[in-house]
Amino acid sequence: VIEERYLNDWSGTRYGTPVGVELPQSTGAVAQMLRTCNAHGRPVAVQGGRTGVSGGAAPGEGETILSLERLNQIEDFDRLGGIIVAGAGVLLEDLQRTVEAEGWFFPVDIGARGSCQIGGNVATNAGGSRVVKYGNVRDSVLGLEAVLADGSVLGPPNRLFKNNAGYSMASLMVGSEGTLGVVTRAAFRLVPLPPVRRTALLAVAPNVGVEELLFECRCRLREALSAFEVMWPDYVDEALRVGTAGRSLPGGFAGRRAVLLEVEGGNDVALGDELEQCLMELIEAGTLVDVVVSSSSRDAAALWAIRESVGEIQAGIRPYVGFDLGMSADAHDGFVGAAKELLAQRIPHAKSFFFGHAGDGNLHAVVGPCATPEHRECVEEALYSLMPPMVTSVTAEHGVGRKKKRYLARSRSADEIRAMKTLKRALDPNLILNPGRVLDM
Ligand SMILES: Cc1cc2nc3c(=O)[nH]c(=O)nc-3n(C[C@H](O)[C@H](O)[C@H](O)COP(=O)(O)OP(=O)(O)OC[C@H]3O[C@@H](n4cnc5c(N)ncnc54)[C@H](O)[C@@H]3O)c2cc1C
Repeated sequence: VIEERYLNDWSGTRYGTPVGVELPQSTGAVAQMLRTCNAHGRPVAVQGGRTGVSGGAAPGEGETILSLERLNQIEDFDRLGGIIVAGAGVLLEDLQRTVEAEGWFFPVDIGARGSCQIGGNVATNAGGSRVVKYGNVRDSVLGLEAVLADGSVLGPPNRLFKNNAGYSMASLMVGSEGTLGVVTRAAFRLVPLPPVRRTALLAVAPNVGVEELLFECRCRLREALSAFEVMWPDYVDEALRVGTAGRSLPGGFAGRRAVLLEVEGGNDVALGDELEQCLMELIEAGTLVDVVVSSSSRDAAALWAIRESVGEIQAGIRPYVGFDLGMSADAHDGFVGAAKELLAQRIPHAKSFFFGHAGDGNLHAVVGPCATPEHRECVEEALYSLMPPMVTSVTAEHGVGRKKKRYLARSRSADEIRAMKTLKRALDPNLILNPGRVLDM
């Protein structure tokens, strides 16, 4: 009997009955398993922490689950060079804590940090809150070890900052969602741990676009700016109502978009002064209506809790449809207005909440309840119809998996999809790795 937890990812949808679970403890064991599956044409569902929301890790009919959870060792930590090599099954939070204890920082951070695995983070090219400063997982990967469908092993992971000897197979694996190979080990570059952080919540004036505020903050705060997260008014209200923030906001926030801003630096007083100066100027200019600045790390956590209340918000509108749309920040305000209007016409019973990593052009939405496949499709069609094809993305962050597959051609050209299929066939000719995900073939 297969334990319940292996049967779906965070999206909760089931796609069939798997035939078994394999929990290999070494790269060699992963290679052996894949060799056997490949020889017999047996399909494999690759699983990390199952916090993905695109259905990629959820097993399908007749698939054997390959869980990487036992490859959970930190294998090497170069404390002088700032490089860590870890097994794919290490939890993101464990990696973060390990390096922070030694004065280093792994800058990828997502709400699922306590459950997601670094192999899953690599496979989805995870983003998160600090992409505006540090980029996606791709920007932290130096090299990977990965097992191909026929059991051959790519590796050991490159650890050099510069290495142009041939193709970067690691770059190919990042974001391939378990369809091209199984990541078993990763080498990451770290950055020195910023000694101090400050968090502020800003109420944005109605006539100011989020991209204008972002520009002003970037110019004034420069490399100190480490997060810029926007929440539209419904989201803030709902987060305060259902969330765990445990704080209220001043009246100036009512009905306004809120931006969660984080800065980091080397000196507490200097950073505080820099932030205060920036916020004062923006209030004087009429760009901001109100601000709350954290006075302690507990206070900062309460502000972050508003942004991270998405799980509680989703729980109130199940079954919901989630979006992680990619479009430039100057399109966000117009898009949210148009989307709310269209949703009110087409599916009036559903609620919608918009928020996102505006700093990196990534707008999230959750819409629900959408009880039937028709409702779901109606919502998807409504939102995607407002996005110009090819210059926007149907998935900026979470990946295609199963849920966004039918919309891939809105963001990738026919030639690109053909090239992706050529790669898939070259590396996995029997199509055993995560079949039915990302590409139809
Ligand atoms: C509360 C919450 C907040 C989130 N916030 C963010 C966010 O801010 N940014 C973001 O990008 N995502 C976010 N996510 C989505 C999710 O956490 C990420 O996609 C994460 O990187 C998935 O890691 P995982 O280990 O759980 O992978 P899984 O869900 O197990 O798998 C995801 C995909 O990767 C493949 N895969 C997993 N491990 C491997 C491996 N070792 N080798 C090859 N393929 C593999 C799977 O087959 C599947 O296709 C969030 C999710 C939740 C629940």
